Amino acid sequence: MFDVAVVGLGPGGSSAAYSASREGLSVVAFDRRREIGVPIQCGEYLPQEHSFDEILPNARRLDLLKGFPREIIRVKTSGVVLYSPGGRAYRDRFDGYIIDRSEFDKWLVSLAVDEGSDIRIESSVYRVEWRDDRYRVYVSSPEGKYSVDARVLILACGASSPLNEMVGLERETDDYNLTPVIQMMYSGADVDEDSIELYTGNDYCPGAYAWIFPRGDGFANVGLGIRRPYLPKDRDWSLRDYLRHFVKHHPIASEKLKRARPVSVVGGLVPVGPPLRSVGRNVLLVGDAANHVIASVGAGIPTSVIGGLLAGEAASKYLGGDASLDIYEEMWRREFGDALETGYKIRRAIDVMTRSDKIMERGLRLFGERHLSEFIRARMSSATRFMSWVGRIAKTL
Ligand SMILES: Cc1cc2nc3c(=O)[nH]c(=O)nc-3n(C[C@H](O)[C@H](O)[C@H](O)COP(=O)(O)OP(=O)(O)OC[C@H]3O[C@@H](n4cnc5c(N)ncnc54)[C@H](O)[C@@H]3O)c2cc1C
Repeated sequence: MFDVAVVGLGPGGSSAAYSASREGLSVVAFDRRREIGVPIQCGEYLPQEHSFDEILPNARRLDLLKGFPREIIRVKTSGVVLYSPGGRAYRDRFDGYIIDRSEFDKWLVSLAVDEGSDIRIESSVYRVEWRDDRYRVYVSSPEGKYSVDARVLILACGASSPLNEMVGLERETDDYNLTPVIQMMYSGADVDEDSIELYTGNDYCPGAYAWIFPRGDGFANVGLGIRRPYLPKDRDWSLRDYLRHFVKHHPIASEKLKRARPVSVVGGLVPVGPPLRSVGRNVLLVGDAANHVIASVGAGIPTSVIGGLLAGEAASKYLGGDASLDIYEEMWRREFGDALETGYKIRRAIDVMTRSDKIMERGLRLFGERHLSEFIRARMSSATRFMSWVGRIAKTL
């Protein structure tokens, strides 16, 4: 029997496996993928080291997020540009990296392996059940089906996983809180390598924004996400249709991408709801499985890594008899709970603004760069002001 079984080896699960092994626990960890980190379903954007003070000021477990190998960095960016529906650019300074996410994920797994975690790829967990004071984890792999037992289970298997329900916890199912996304990597893009760009406008991306992130050497990650309730009923378009429309017809984006050609396409799901209860009987939820994403900007790498580290520590304290597993929820709330709650409130305010391009245009004119700065940093006080302003505007229209 293992002390801990981890399901999912994205940044959340790998960090949890690493942390639990480092605490001296025996750990087995599964991922159904053939190759860790592939396909890359991510914009690969991370704040630079000093930017964490602005976005997650209470976070302490930042060693991995600040100390990953420099070779993983593809581009250094220093700004964010938000385009209004009418094409007006609002800029803010925020230092970030575009990393190679598949290399990042592999590096995290290598840390777990070095600490002694038993890592198993091509291993899909199809059932988990609590019996005789332990979890039985059922695995399907190329070698066949088998099960392992563990005293604590850590689910880090991404957004809206059915495994959450098998352990008696909730999974996100609300269409307003789940954003299906599509992204394509383009070669031959004529983009500013110094900034990431966000484009609003209901013709291109109702209810959210499309993005162009530089990937270096003329490559650009172009994507968008639209929640189901925001898909117009009178336009029978898929996400791919919207992306194609954005690339071909957006007056600014189409210029930058006119000679570019896609080299890959991938879909994904971003949870943008409030954090879920993350502790059950001998089980913890980490990362997207717990909605640990800053919903306003769709950022989940930092929170999944920190949450993973905390889950490993909490499991160790629990199994050592020093604390209940509830300590995990207290720990993550202390480190990044504010950012999650505020990000969710801002997202709800954005939902109101994006109902109409006119509201969005006016709102941005009124608050301009200051608003963008708060939006990026998931700031509480300003976000609250911002929300009341949105409510007022909405009532006058
Ligand atoms: C298109 C897109 C762009 C994004 N861009 C950014 C960005 O630029 N910056 C940022 O910070 N965040 C971004 N995010 C969010 C970020 O990618 C996630 O928040 C982050 O990956 C969460 O990590 P995780 O470990 O919780 O889950 P995941 O990375 O989703 O990993 C879950 C793992 O679990 C495995 N798995 C699932 N079910 C099972 C099972 N039953 N058995 C075995 N294995 C299983 C999967 O194969 C997967 O490897 C983006 C997300 C998407 C979809």
